[in-house]
Amino acid sequence: MEFQAIKKETRILSPADSTNKSIPSEIRLDPLTGRSARICHFMELKWEKPDFEAMIKGTEKTCPFCSGRVLEITPRFPEEIIPEGRLTKNDMVLFPNIAPYDSLGAVAVMGDRHFIPMTEITPGKIKNGFLLSMEFFKRVDELKHPEAVYHIINWNFMPPAGSSLIHPHLQVFSTSSAPNLMRYEMDSAKKYLEENGTNYWDDLIRIETEDKLRFLGRIGRSSWLTNYAPMGVAGDVLAVVNGVCSTLELSDKDLSDIADGLTRVMTGYDKMGIYSFNMNFFTGAKDDEHARFHLLFSPRTFFNQALGATDVGALRNLFNETICMAFPEDINKMLKDDF
Ligand SMILES: [Zn+2]
Repeated sequence: MEFQAIKKETRILSPADSTNKSIPSEIRLDPLTGRSARICHFMELKWEKPDFEAMIKGTEKTCPFCSGRVLEITPRFPEEIIPEGRLTKNDMVLFPNIAPYDSLGAVAVMGDRHFIPMTEITPGKIKNGFLLSMEFFKRVDELKHPEAVYHIINWNFMPPAGSSLIHPHLQVFSTSSAPNLMRYEMDSAKKYLEENGTNYWDDLIRIETEDKLRFLGRIGRSSWLTNYAPMGVAGDVLAVVNGVCSTLELSDKDLSDIADGLTRVMTGYDKMGIYSFNMNFFTGAKDDEHARFHLLFSPRTFFNQALGATDVGALRNLFNETICMAFPEDINKMLKDDF
């Protein structure tokens, strides 16, 4: 396993006195896939949190997920999928996604409360949301539904992360069609196993734990680290669950541990003024020995907050080339206290 980086240097002349200035940057290659990620535009990872009260004012009036409305206006699954139509747990409810991108898609609303600041999301709330989603996955798995192959939870939290609603909710789907990067990773991990006789993720965690530069900590079977070749402008956090190939193998304890770790990461990023994130499950299919269940937490923010300029530009959107504005080893130091 190689942690390759191509170091670059840009020389520019100052407009005032033509003195030389040198600006470094780095292109890192993901050790598994070779996907390149640029570390550049170095700046202090510090943003201003907005006036949340002004931002959310009035949004509850039309929110389809607020209690009193959610059971009135959200659709129900057909009887052959979920006989009771929707799944519920405490004040949480799971129903079909009305904007599906696959045939078995659901939305899980994470309770009654319309707006929860990132730092007030508790491990218990996250775990309950995951448990409700797991119930959906188990149901479609028991049905032997042809789409019950990869069971995925995605989370877009707050509008900078692409959430069209303030009300916290999870995107929950089962699919036989692995999304791009997940498929790419799995193909590469399969090749890695064939060539090396070992699981890539097991090797990665062993190396990262010894190396310590990006390792954050271990909670139960889950190991947490800042990603070597991150996708987010403020880095990403990767969590790998030891011994687990696919989502349905996650135990109750694993879900608690993941929920705990996620809130620690949120606490760390909150200190940088970040209030929005994406989180995706990456899973193999059942018995995929080359796979390991892992998730990526990627904070979302702005290139220009005052103008609402998103942190995804042409480089990322059309080349899928990413920019991170600090070294993951330095981001690790900012997050480590909370682990
Ligand atoms: Zn709401």
